[in-house]
Amino acid sequence: MTDTAPAADPARAAATFRALYRAEPTGLWAAPGRVNLIGEHTDYNDGFVMPLALPHTTLAAAAPRTDGVLRLHSAGAPGGIVEIRPEDLRPGHPGADWTAYPAGVLWAMREAGLPVGGADLHYTSTVPLGAGLSSSAALEIATAVALDALHGLGLSRPDLARLAQRAENAYAGVPCGIMDQTAAACCTAGHALFLDTRDLTQRQVPFDAAAHGLRLLVVDTRVRHRLGDGAYARRRAGCEGAARALGVRALRDIPYAHLPEALADLASLTDGAALVPLVRHVVTENHRVEQAVAHLDAGRPHALGPLLTASHASLRDDFAVSCPELDLAAATAIAAGALGARMTGGGFGGSALVLVEEAAAATVTKAVDTAFATAGYTAPRIFPAVPGAGARRLDP
Ligand code: ADP
Ligand code: MG
Repeated sequence: MTDTAPAADPARAAATFRALYRAEPTGLWAAPGRVNLIGEHTDYNDGFVMPLALPHTTLAAAAPRTDGVLRLHSAGAPGGIVEIRPEDLRPGHPGADWTAYPAGVLWAMREAGLPVGGADLHYTSTVPLGAGLSSSAALEIATAVALDALHGLGLSRPDLARLAQRAENAYAGVPCGIMDQTAAACCTAGHALFLDTRDLTQRQVPFDAAAHGLRLLVVDTRVRHRLGDGAYARRRAGCEGAARALGVRALRDIPYAHLPEALADLASLTDGAALVPLVRHVVTENHRVEQAVAHLDAGRPHALGPLLTASHASLRDDFAVSCPELDLAAATAIAAGALGARMTGGGFGGSALVLVEEAAAATVTKAVDTAFATAGYTAPRIFPAVPGAGARRLDP
């Protein structure tokens, strides 16, 4: 199934805001979902990532409040308006569910000592939820840019990303890195964002696939395997343990050229052998990101194909975070003529990314659809990813 998401409709969001809150919204802010081109499970190892923003966005229609109260409503969540009083604004606020993400942003701002009042907010989104395309960061960053503007905070995009990450870590209880929030806040159209997650330096790398006769396809497998959360925590702890055992601050500090010695050292330690595949993935993946950046800088986007495929093999075999649906999507796409394909996001479901020549896009899409049907899997959602803009204010 091919599905090109409609852009969220600002006029409709404004009308819904009016009906809900019986007042005009002060403004509308949008933040995109993202897909990570390459650099997976590197962000908590101080490594490199390279996300790009999707055309899919979460829209926030918003107005400020002077009483400090936060009122939240989402077209994508059951129930009506949720009201959170200032005295209840803390991790685990009464009835916290999806509201933890936006409430966490306001909480993180107040914790940072910022003079931020309350707000009425209505959200509508075209970012698929829980598909590894970062609807959670889109929700947080739409909230962050809205609150920043409504209360005249004047924060930078990287500052907003850090506050949103704090919201997700400390308020929603999800131990994510900084990639998703930075992508939603800082990406620009026509570029992938090369981000060093250690010092947060970033660079916009031009990526115009269409100009080279290429297309990027996202395959949302529509599955999310439950073992994902514990597995993420174990991988993360394993990487931190390996860095300690090797005497480096983070696995990012192991140069690619020293990988064989590092793996031999690790294998000689008690309990070290089990960590070898984790280290091999992180160090080779960081190297692949650097190679990908060099190819894009040199105007060779075709050359990303083998890097994507190698990234998938490393995530599947060494890091062990893939699943049958992601493996089928990647293998089928390549067999049908794609230049490269890999799982993207944390793994255990979610989405795969495929790089394909324009002329082969329809064949590859059909092959993946057919393979999923034959395997008895839910039909995937397949759509093109053109690097879009980061968070922005919209006209109603
Ligand atoms: P991903 O970020 O990959 O989409 P997550 O599990 O991190 O997956 O975040 C998904 C969760 O974020 C949803 O279950 C929901 O709680 C919340 N969420 C995201 N966008 C919205 C939205 N527009 N309305 C309500 N909740 C949302
Ligand atoms: Mg998320």
